[in-house]
Amino acid sequence: MKIVNSTTVVKCDIPNCRNTANYIITDDGIDERNQFNLCAECAMKLHDILSVTVVPKSPENFIKKACKKKEAATIRENRYE
Ligand SMILES: [Zn+2]
Repeated sequence: MKIVNSTTVVKCDIPNCRNTANYIITDDGIDERNQFNLCAECAMKLHDILSVTVVPKSPENFIKKACKKKEAATIRENRYE
């Protein structure tokens, strides 16, 4: 997926928005009819919503998970020795 600047005058695809699109969300092999047009205002709103809705996993959780795995492996090793 990639975002490119819009070079044509098209409406933003967000419902209830009448702005002209500034960006096009597209990808290789996607034809014009299936692209998503987005105005700057909606792009900022989407950015704000996504940043609180899609939260990346914290590195701390990865470390804890790795430690638990190592611990479990050690316990298993001890049992079979
Ligand atoms: Zn919009």
